[in-house]
Amino acid sequence: MWLNGTSDLIGVLKQRGAKRVALQFPEGLKRKAASCTRTLREAGFEVIISGDPCYGACDLALGALEYADVLVHFGHTPVDDRPQVIFEPYEIGFDCAVLEKALPFLSGKPTGLVTTVQHAHLIPAMEEFLHRKGIDVRVCGGGSGRTPCRGQVLGCSFTAARIEGVDQVLFVGTGHFHPVGIAISTGARVIALDPLTGTAEEVNGDALLRRRFAVMEKAKGATGVGIIVSSKSGQQRMDLARRLVPLHPGAVIVLMQEVSPAELLNLGFACYVNTACPRLAYDDQVRFPVPVLSPQEFEILCGKRSWEEYAIDEIL
Ligand code: SF4
Repeated sequence: MWLNGTSDLIGVLKQRGAKRVALQFPEGLKRKAASCTRTLREAGFEVIISGDPCYGACDLALGALEYADVLVHFGHTPVDDRPQVIFEPYEIGFDCAVLEKALPFLSGKPTGLVTTVQHAHLIPAMEEFLHRKGIDVRVCGGGSGRTPCRGQVLGCSFTAARIEGVDQVLFVGTGHFHPVGIAISTGARVIALDPLTGTAEEVNGDALLRRRFAVMEKAKGATGVGIIVSSKSGQQRMDLARRLVPLHPGAVIVLMQEVSPAELLNLGFACYVNTACPRLAYDDQVRFPVPVLSPQEFEILCGKRSWEEYAIDEIL
C-alpha cells in the first residue's frame, strides 16, 4: 500500500533490479503521479507515467513496458498474472462503528459480508464488529482469481457474494452498481452501506432489470449486430464472442480498444453486444446511440435463453 505509505515498493523494485519504472493510476488517483515520481526519482529510478484513462486492473498499460522494466499499477488487485506488473492497491479506511447503521436492516439470518478492494483490509475488523453485535457473519475466503482478497467483489465478479447457505448479503462500499449486481447475481437480499456517508439501504435489481428489458425491446429486429471484443488486457473475451456470432445471421465481431458512442455510431450497426467490461452496457447505455446488450441479453433476444434465466454478466 505504497500510496498509503506502508508498502516497500522501492525495496521490491530494487530487488527486481528495475531501473526504468512505468506508473499507471486509475482516474481517482492520477493526481498522486507527480509526488510518486519525485519519490522514485530520488531513489534513483527513471519514471514514465501512463496518461491514458484507466478504470481497472483489466486495463493495464502494457505498451509502457516497451520503455520500462516494470509497470506499477496503483489502486487495484490483479485480475490476471503478469510477471512484469506490480500491483499496489490503495486502502481507504473508516471507523467500523459505522456498520451500526446497517444493523436495523439485517434479519437474524446468516449474513454474507463483501466490499471493494479499497476497504478489503478492513474485512477482519468488520467481521469482528458484526460478531460482537450477534450477527452470524460469513466471508467467502479468497474470492476468485479476479478478486484475490477475502470478501472482495468487482463490478465484473460477484463470486465472493455467492456463499452457501447465505441469502442475505451486506455490501460495504460506495455506489449502487455493486449491490445491484450482487442482488441479481445471487438472488439474495442485499443491504448496502456507504461507509463514508453512513447511509444504509436495502437494494434490489428491479429498476436495472426494467431498464434492460426496454433496451432489449429496442434491439428486436436489428439486422446488423456488432459483437464488441475489447483489446484491453483483462477484458478480452474472444471465445465468448465467437460463441455468440452464430446466434444471429447479421452478427460480426468488432475489436475495439475504447468503446465510445462516436465509434459505435460510425460503425453503423443497429445493435451491439458487449463482451468488454460488463459495466459498459449497464452503466453507459444512455450515452450510446443504439442498444448495447450483454451476452446473456443477446442470448435471450435470439431465443437461446429464457427471460427467467436472465443473469448479470460477469467475467469469471
Ligand atoms: Fe472493473 Fe470493468 Fe475492469 Fe471488471 S472489467 S475490473 S468491472 S473496469
